[in-house]
Amino acid sequence: MYKILKTDGRAKRAEFTTVHGTVQTPVFMNVGTVAAIKGAVATTDLKEIGTQIELSNTYHLHVRPGDKVVRKLGGLHKFMNWDRPILTDSGGFQVFSLASLRKIKEEGVYFQSHIDGRKIFMGPEQSMQIQSNLGSTIAMAFDECPSSVADRDYVQRSVERTTRWLARCKTEMARLNALEGTVNPHQMLFGINQGAIYKDIRIEHAKQIREMDLDGYAVGGLAVGETHEQMYYILDEVVPYLPKEKPVYLMGVGTPLNILEAVDRGVDFFDCVYPSRNGRHGHVYTKDGKLNLFNAKYELDDHPIEEGCQCPACRNYSRAYIRHLLKAKEMLGMRLCVLHNLYFYNHLMEDIRGAIEEGNYQTFKKERVDRYTQGQA
Ligand SMILES: [Zn+2]
Repeated sequence: MYKILKTDGRAKRAEFTTVHGTVQTPVFMNVGTVAAIKGAVATTDLKEIGTQIELSNTYHLHVRPGDKVVRKLGGLHKFMNWDRPILTDSGGFQVFSLASLRKIKEEGVYFQSHIDGRKIFMGPEQSMQIQSNLGSTIAMAFDECPSSVADRDYVQRSVERTTRWLARCKTEMARLNALEGTVNPHQMLFGINQGAIYKDIRIEHAKQIREMDLDGYAVGGLAVGETHEQMYYILDEVVPYLPKEKPVYLMGVGTPLNILEAVDRGVDFFDCVYPSRNGRHGHVYTKDGKLNLFNAKYELDDHPIEEGCQCPACRNYSRAYIRHLLKAKEMLGMRLCVLHNLYFYNHLMEDIRGAIEEGNYQTFKKERVDRYTQGQA
């Protein structure tokens, strides 16, 4: 259940209650693609860094270890020892971006596994079955994510098929949730708005899917090559057509600045690989911008990554020490940077929630954007 506690312009401060607990929004979901946050971060670390909800990947878990294996072990929550909400993506994005030799038909997509070349078929029903076996809190509808530079006719046909697939996802989820022995009989379904950068196709699609009374709505197919301005423009135009009483999830976004802007356009949920991927490369976030710990100027720097940060890295270690670990290729270096970055994102969201509660979001956003952009960290 989604309950708006406060609005400030289009920015929303809300609570989303699930069978695995309540999520305070706006929220950043921490990405654990194969049921693990890359960078040797365990689920037992996540509560310490403020993680509310974790995201795992249907396609990857289907290929390895197999969703049936996860189901036999009690579902994803038990498998990875995480008792808070989990969102699983539909597998669609990976099928379209990773797998080879794919063939798209009305019934679904035929493709080969990127691990062992095995032939796989995935359609709306299969995606729902896999996500039901994983037992995630929120399942994403199976969709096609057309390239942001795809031609208009292709995007139009693709979006129409995605709408038909969404109806099949909804029917299949209802069937699976009603089965005896389903891992999570309260699994929720989010639909995904597509349409590349064509405003009218996206608005028409939003109108169609909002009639389907889903648990939440995502805006997909952004941050895949278009400019930030195009992304903000699409959000400005499309979010008002999604139901006000449901959460909005902007998939795969993004930088701290993208998040500050998207919250201002009514987005509740975010996910992105940036904090963990950048952390593994020694790039760490601060309120004054990103810094590269490989830089020689940190060799003798005995300050924490960010002064005042309460993450496990900053409470205990200096920039100089973490730089040394990274250069020596010690796994601890990566781990500390990823913990700091996820803490940074999770606490950025906490500050965002506070600013909306105070009715101060515009001032807060401007201060944060200016500081981050001008920072010489
Ligand atoms: Zn820190």
